[in-house]
Amino acid sequence: MGAVMQSAANPIMPIPGLIDPVPVPRAVTPRADGRTDLLGLSRPQIKSVLEEAGLDAKAAKLRSKQLFHWLYHRGETDFEAMTDLAKPMRGWMAERFVVGRPQVVEAQVSTDGTRKWLLRSDDGQDYEMVFIPDADRGTLCVSSQVGCTLNCRFCHTGTMRLVRNLTPGEIVGQVMLARDALGEWPKGNMGSTAAASPDDEDEDAPQYSPDGRMLTNIVMMGMGEPLYNFEHVRDALKVVMDGDGLALSRRRITLSTSGVIPMMARASEEIGVNLAVSLHAVTKEVRDELVPINKKYGIEELLQACADYPKASNARRITFEYVMIKDKNDSDDDARELVRLIRKYKLPAKVNLIPFNPWPGTYYECSAPERILSFSSIVFEGGISAPVRTPRGRDIMAACGQLKSASEKKSRAELDRLAEEKQAALG
Ligand code: SAH
Ligand code: SF4
Repeated sequence: MGAVMQSAANPIMPIPGLIDPVPVPRAVTPRADGRTDLLGLSRPQIKSVLEEAGLDAKAAKLRSKQLFHWLYHRGETDFEAMTDLAKPMRGWMAERFVVGRPQVVEAQVSTDGTRKWLLRSDDGQDYEMVFIPDADRGTLCVSSQVGCTLNCRFCHTGTMRLVRNLTPGEIVGQVMLARDALGEWPKGNMGSTAAASPDDEDEDAPQYSPDGRMLTNIVMMGMGEPLYNFEHVRDALKVVMDGDGLALSRRRITLSTSGVIPMMARASEEIGVNLAVSLHAVTKEVRDELVPINKKYGIEELLQACADYPKASNARRITFEYVMIKDKNDSDDDARELVRLIRKYKLPAKVNLIPFNPWPGTYYECSAPERILSFSSIVFEGGISAPVRTPRGRDIMAACGQLKSASEKKSRAELDRLAEEKQAALG
């Protein structure tokens, strides 16, 4: 992997999209009122903004711990409610900081219960997130970018140009907002956390029950290629996985990539979540057409990178996503070749067959149900689990590959105007 890793850092071979085309300050989002938004910050980052605001190191450390807990464990946005902070300290915080949320532009509910939110960032960029409830789990599909540079031919997001990478705050913000919307922040007595003074507890409030939650899983499968926004996705997921905060286990988080090979080893070492790889084809010709990044990083190299992935992190089975497109990649021969390739690299793999989700303007069609079944049985008989994913939320364009926001409609001039307005507001 060493050589591959080096190529990621090698300026001679730049990877398109790794560099955010719209460089705006990231970790701490500036606000018109001059306050600092704490959303998405890690404990050390909170500590350092507190120090910059004037607290000494010891106080900043203690307060950052308390704030981290209130932000990510309790979902609190109001400093006045942070009952283990002395009253003057609460006021001091509120003058300097806020705990923000992405702005909700639109929320839709599908007939099958899938929910989709159109969100807007401070600088007017729109992106989407989707919540998919199931009998035994609830999965939040999180976006990593506004748009995508990769232009996979069957993907609606791919028809947008990349507007920009999302910040860690905007990525964590999606999870926070979902918890808000589902009403899943713990209230009442939390036992050992010792944060709230007993006087402030509401006796009738429900007890904290981590098992009762609807939001149990996260998939980085919304808009964008997460490995082209590696640092922000990593930092955001670290906050999401922190045991003192949202505390989602890495076993319940899946990152999906179209195959950005140079970043896969780092994803394994620095994030360590489950990996899903958008394979979608077994020949160079077809994958070059469907997933153009294949021209740069081919199938065999990709499978080798997959074989190396679990070694580094002890992660579980890799999921290969395979979209079923009529007369394109869905023959019995394709299925047999898929089995051969997975066996060749001795991959602990599972194949997720995704019926192609149509969108306006696409010229692909979904494979017939019998074709999908035949494909699935061949892979299954090859000893590899190959479930067919039930499309969810198609009626509200929330299914895989259907996400697309209106951000692209903003012209360069409009974006410049927005940036100028923001700059003016910041003084
Ligand atoms: N960029 C990442 C993650 C986002 S896409 C990636 O490509 O893996 C999430 C999944 O939806 C990917 O497997 C993608 O290939 C798939 N997808 C895209 N368009 C689709 C469509 N129209 N129908 C079904 N699946 C689609
Ligand atoms: Fe981007 Fe993934 Fe869509 Fe390809 S499938 S265009 S990588 S979001």
